[in-house]
Amino acid sequence: MKKSDAEYDVVIIGSGAGGGTMAFAYARKNLRVLVLEAGPKFDPFKDYKLADKSWEQQGFPHKPGSQGRQTFAELQKLDPAHEDPRSWNAVIGKTNPTDRRRPYKYHHVRGVGGSTLAFTGESHRMHPESMQMKSRFGVAAYWPVDYKTLEPFYSEAEKIIGVARPTDLGTRWRSEPYPLPPRELGFGGQKLVAGAEKLGMNWGANARAALSKPCDDRPNCNYCADCNRGCRRTDKGSVDVTFLQKATASGFCTIQSGVTVTKIEAGADDRVKGVHLIDAEGKSAFLATPKLVVACGAVETPRLLLNSANQHAPDGLANESGLNGPVGYAQRVVGGWGHRRIRGCNVPVQVQEYIDSKK
Ligand SMILES: Cc1cc2nc3c(=O)[nH]c(=O)nc-3n(C[C@H](O)[C@H](O)[C@H](O)COP(=O)(O)OP(=O)(O)OC[C@H]3O[C@@H](n4cnc5c(N)ncnc54)[C@H](O)[C@@H]3O)c2cc1C
Repeated sequence: MKKSDAEYDVVIIGSGAGGGTMAFAYARKNLRVLVLEAGPKFDPFKDYKLADKSWEQQGFPHKPGSQGRQTFAELQKLDPAHEDPRSWNAVIGKTNPTDRRRPYKYHHVRGVGGSTLAFTGESHRMHPESMQMKSRFGVAAYWPVDYKTLEPFYSEAEKIIGVARPTDLGTRWRSEPYPLPPRELGFGGQKLVAGAEKLGMNWGANARAALSKPCDDRPNCNYCADCNRGCRRTDKGSVDVTFLQKATASGFCTIQSGVTVTKIEAGADDRVKGVHLIDAEGKSAFLATPKLVVACGAVETPRLLLNSANQHAPDGLANESGLNGPVGYAQRVVGGWGHRRIRGCNVPVQVQEYIDSKK
């Protein structure tokens, strides 16, 4: 590992959705970027073994070091008054039969590409009103940007990822059509549509980062529905085969995997001086950098900032509000899973009532 801050214009911690897109944004401006990634590199063609006998019973094929450890304190007792909203399914009944809250596993991948290696590829834009929680409900903070400002960036990112969907002009208006044409609904999609129509619900085809035709040297999706187990064909728009691929091809981006940043060093003026890290050989080092992007994910970013407290920032970096850590931003997802194994497009349809509802 090079110790010189003269070698890179910016250091990015984390190579997932956030870090990978930032690496691309800097590299295309000819800025020299170093990406430090705690997890290993995955090779889609070797590591995602779709032909293995037990493949369908496995989850994402994690490698050593590609999952962080999680510990939980004892969680609160459940209020019996809220018995009903507990999750259940027809096969096992209540998914939490105990009287205590259950910790939800932090579902993520540590690796070059981050959690997008395992992501389903649903490519939604945020609801414009989600950025106005403070003015609408008096909670959270004012966003520094609104949907109109973000819209051109959404369009550009969708082209690089390769998003397919029929274009509609709903709440999330668009300045241009989806970059790729929609796929036809397969067996599973048609079943969902029939169910939605029977219940009087509006449905729409889902925006998917699974290529409906070849794009950028990537083949079209074969609809094996194994997106969460790693996409061997590279048609799923994970960050390793899209933004990071373009960033490294520019010659301005270097990725170092197996490197964990343990602390950020900042001075009295809050300016970052550099990062302490454990390199791929397990050795401690300090890397000076004039500019730093922290993109370690929703759990690890707050943790690293809190862990980087110093005499000038005793409550952790970027934590003058005291909100870093205890406050997160959650998005509601309501979904259904069939127990029969069906090939076809993953999550092909969505029900609009849940997407655009103001209730
Ligand atoms: C199974 C699954 C399905 C999903 N499906 C979808 C979907 O369909 N659509 C959708 O929009 N989203 C989906 N998501 C969520 C999406 O993948 C994440 O929201 C997104 O990847 C988060 O980006 P991020 O950059 O914040 O974090 P990540 O992508 O998790 O990347 C963070 C990276 O930082 C690295 N890192 C952390 N700490 C350190 C450290 N101290 N030093 C060095 N590196 C560090 C990690 O190893 C990791 O690679 C899914 C996620 C999972 C797990």
